[in-house]
Amino acid sequence: MGDDFSDINALHWQFDLLGSIEVGITVLDRDFNVLVWNQFMENNSGILPSRIKYKNLFEFFPEIDKDWFLVKTEPVVSLKSPAFIIWEQRPYLFKFETSRPITSASDFMYQNVTLFPLTSFEGDVEQICIVVYDVTDEALNKKGIESLNQQLQQISRVDGLTGVFNRRYWEEQFSLEHKRIVRNGFPASVLMLDIDHFKKVNDTYGHPAGDYIIKTLAKVVQQSIRETDLAGRYGGEEFVVLLPETNAENSMIVAERIRSGCEDLLPLYEGNEIPFTVSIGIAEFSVTYQDHMVWLEKADQALYRSKKGGRNRVSKF
Ligand code: GH3
Ligand code: MG
Ligand code: MG
Repeated sequence: MGDDFSDINALHWQFDLLGSIEVGITVLDRDFNVLVWNQFMENNSGILPSRIKYKNLFEFFPEIDKDWFLVKTEPVVSLKSPAFIIWEQRPYLFKFETSRPITSASDFMYQNVTLFPLTSFEGDVEQICIVVYDVTDEALNKKGIESLNQQLQQISRVDGLTGVFNRRYWEEQFSLEHKRIVRNGFPASVLMLDIDHFKKVNDTYGHPAGDYIIKTLAKVVQQSIRETDLAGRYGGEEFVVLLPETNAENSMIVAERIRSGCEDLLPLYEGNEIPFTVSIGIAEFSVTYQDHMVWLEKADQALYRSKKGGRNRVSKF
């Protein structure tokens, strides 16, 4: 315990500290009247402590959803436990304009907020302390990277997990090939593959193991086809292969190679052997298929027959 003099000294430097730190601090009583409003809060809101002190917070910040805030602060009081509001959930609690409106890509400050109880000697929660962190830079970086990733995916031709073409690019190429063979009359076939009972793989071994099986299938497919063939990931565990200059009989051989290749493999993932099989549908091009999607639909119908017929098999439309 210090004497009166050192208590006052301590108080002084605590006030200095509150003033100089780069976080917002405000203390509310249980009716949400403002008791403390530090320099950061003053600077960013333009509201002087003398104006807001002992006034209700909601009068000054109508953008704060009162019902939501009551729910948020309730456990702070009743359970004496802190609560957090992160910018991903809610970009801000207090709508502050950014200090650098010219250079910043955001015109408001993103905030992480901590709410914690201040207890009296008796242990009752008398006040709530709110700490506001400016996370604008972090938020903008993260959002920037996310949108960049999306753009990269857009312009990319390749599926990230498997390295085969993604659906968008594969369909584009498939459509071009369709136009080409309508003109030149060469045969061509398309395969559609789907892993059998794949939900069970995920359920039994977990989603990462499922991803590993998807990658394994992609490898089997790529090892089974020619360089001029075009493999794509069509959906989660569905693949398509375009085989130019290949009739139904020859595409049957390729499909059978893929099917038996999967059946014979026993992929090992984190100590578990995970057997898997695939069902395949084949459709050779016919001049009656005016549209490439009509053609693909035939392969899908053949795939459906393979599933119906007991899976782990190849069917021709
Ligand atoms: P079926 O033999 O009839 O094909 O049975 P199935 O269980 O394989 O059924 P279906 O093809 O409808 O289910 C595909 C499942 O694949 C559903 C989904 O949870 C899972 N899945 C889709 N995409 C992915 C992925 O990228 N990774 C993993 N691990 N699982 C995926
Ligand atoms: Mg499927
Ligand atoms: Mg499946």
